[in-house]
Amino acid sequence: MKRVYACLMLLLMLSSMMGCSSTTNPANENYLLDEKFDTEAYLPGYDMQPAFQSADGQFCSEGSVYYTVLNSWIFYYDRESDTSGILCGKPECAHKDASCTAYAGNMMGCIQVYDGKLYWLSGSTPYRMDLDGTNREVFQKVEAMNGLSPQFYIHRGYLYTCLVGFQVTSAEAQGTMEIKRYPLGEEAEPVIVFHKEYPYNNIWYKCRFSGNSMYFMIDDAQDLDVESMMQHRELYEYHLQTGELEQLWSLEENWTVYGMEVTEEGVYVLNLRTDYNVTDRSHIYLSYFDFR
Ligand SMILES: [Zn+2]
Repeated sequence: MKRVYACLMLLLMLSSMMGCSSTTNPANENYLLDEKFDTEAYLPGYDMQPAFQSADGQFCSEGSVYYTVLNSWIFYYDRESDTSGILCGKPECAHKDASCTAYAGNMMGCIQVYDGKLYWLSGSTPYRMDLDGTNREVFQKVEAMNGLSPQFYIHRGYLYTCLVGFQVTSAEAQGTMEIKRYPLGEEAEPVIVFHKEYPYNNIWYKCRFSGNSMYFMIDDAQDLDVESMMQHRELYEYHLQTGELEQLWSLEENWTVYGMEVTEEGVYVLNLRTDYNVTDRSHIYLSYFDFR
């Protein structure tokens, strides 16, 4: 399928568009874990929830119940019964310490419902429990999540981890962006979906899932001076069925990714100009990528 790029605001960017790079799938492997995943349609229970992807792992729902993490604890709110509280199914529990099933630890997040269970990450340890706050367990190991902006995502039978790391080579520090894929609930070596070193060590990213595609936008700021901040920015698509990685777009610009949504039409990115004046509303831009 021919891929088309469009930007609502700055058509001049077209002239700066760089060629796409890709990794191919010569053995014609199929990485789908089940026949029911062979669709681009949304699969409730098995897909990242479109309505909550913008929450970046802080908020999700199942049926009438919403779940969130706050100050090391998992909370729920049921809009049907209008009840809320700490999500603990242990009778007689005082909800005061780590023995409480709702205690998620200090470095927690990535809360997500998948196939009838609630998942979250505490440090480098992935947990899950039943939606009534019982049967909390560590369900598999992942490699250490030592770095910045750790996230995990469960989508169509795989667990993906994203992490910004850094390494010192000679006198220079370099940032790395790494994405790994594990079969959910199995002890296995991860597949490295993406690994790249960036020169400025000021990396942030957004990652979204839709059907059998994973889109991720990576910014690397050349410096952190808001007056002059230029980003090296890249948008990738990882094809979940074939394992192929495709760079869709790359550019230097003084925007920061503020939000990112994947719809049936394409990928929308809300951008913030980094040389903004707070009284000037024109520092917000919307980009649109018609890749679908
Ligand atoms: Zn408790």
